[in-house]
Amino acid sequence: MKKFARKNVVILGATGSIGTNTLRVLRKHKSKLKLIGVSAHSKDRMLAAICQEFKVPYASLTDAKTYKRAKLEGLFPSETQLLGGSDALVEISTLVAADIIVLGVVGACGLKPALAAIEMGKEIALANKELLVLGGSFIIDAAKRSGSLLLPTDSEHNAIFQCLEGHSNKDVEKLILTASGGQFRDTPIQKLDSVTPADATKHPNWSMGQKITVDSATMANKGLELFEAHWLFNLEPSRLEVVLHPQSVAHSFVQFIDGSILGQFTPPSMTFAIQHCLLYPHRSASVEPTLDFKQSMQWNFKAPDLARYPCLKLAYESLNNGGNALAIYNAANEIAVERFLIGSINYLDIPRIIEWCLSNDNNSEATSVEALIQVDAYTRKLATAYKAHSV
Ligand code: NAD
Ligand code: MG
Repeated sequence: MKKFARKNVVILGATGSIGTNTLRVLRKHKSKLKLIGVSAHSKDRMLAAICQEFKVPYASLTDAKTYKRAKLEGLFPSETQLLGGSDALVEISTLVAADIIVLGVVGACGLKPALAAIEMGKEIALANKELLVLGGSFIIDAAKRSGSLLLPTDSEHNAIFQCLEGHSNKDVEKLILTASGGQFRDTPIQKLDSVTPADATKHPNWSMGQKITVDSATMANKGLELFEAHWLFNLEPSRLEVVLHPQSVAHSFVQFIDGSILGQFTPPSMTFAIQHCLLYPHRSASVEPTLDFKQSMQWNFKAPDLARYPCLKLAYESLNNGGNALAIYNAANEIAVERFLIGSINYLDIPRIIEWCLSNDNNSEATSVEALIQVDAYTRKLATAYKAHSV
């Protein structure tokens, strides 16, 4: 293995949950990792404080109003160049000096900057799952062309990536993704329609952004992760399995054709997966203590009940149908979660909206990123227009 050369890091979404965990890894490994670009949407003060602490040369604020105000108020340190506007994310993800881009923004806004960085052959720490779901084939093709290394950062895919090292797909029987089951895993099914946004944004194990926390409860998150696994590891849906594991310490398994099953285990914190990507292929001391087998632990596993998790069932159907279904599933879910969080629909309207949007799929397949973005936009309109009968 080559000696580790210091890497220049850019974080898209530095103020979010992935961003904050990435900063913890950077603090621990200052001599190995240097932060040269950061972005946020509207948390300008938090972003300015990050620039101050890490002496970051480039920052971008994607919300136009916030950018103008921050510029006017001179909020950022003088050594930081502040960028704004719709291309600001592309500008910082394509900085010539950048070695690795951490994609920690939420939603489809990461697609263009990701593609631009991949085309330049940069390493990508892929946390943002929506962009792989939306533009999986384009991202994988672009990475093949440029030789850009895609490092799966979502904990399940990072676990699988680690277990697969040295093996090809012909050795693999199936991938088994673990799922916590979210905060309503024991709530009686008939009570699910009356859960509130406040209930749905509290995760029992992980501390994450609001959208992904709701997605964990509905298991739309695991649905998106099945899509991610399909693109990253090039396996058909029948070889992708989901198992409930409430403790969230086993992050996923690979079952090989000889019956051996490998897994990867850490406490439920994203710093482990993020550090693995940032220092890859090297290893170094972790930010937090890992599992201690001197303490007794109990780990449980069971198959998920698809009646409790209709979003998971719809994800398998979408994966089997292929074409635009994954993009439709993703866009419909994003809008449904937004609508649930502002109280305009009930919890169980989330799968209803996804199902309704999927039923409008004309079974075609977008052949360009632009066409995919149109499918995404059209689905968002449909999902916004959906009239919920339950509220
Ligand atoms: P978050 O809501 O905590 O943070 C999102 C970040 O994106 C913030 O920095 C915000 O400023 C930025 N952002 C929001 N809207 C934006 C817009 N329109 N344009 C540009 N930037 C915008 O989210 P998170 O939990 O950190 O998740 C980020 C991504 O990582 C998601 O795709 C999520 O599915 C994935 N992920 C998160 C975790 C986790 O533990 N949080 C684990 C695995 C995967
Ligand atoms: Mg995950």
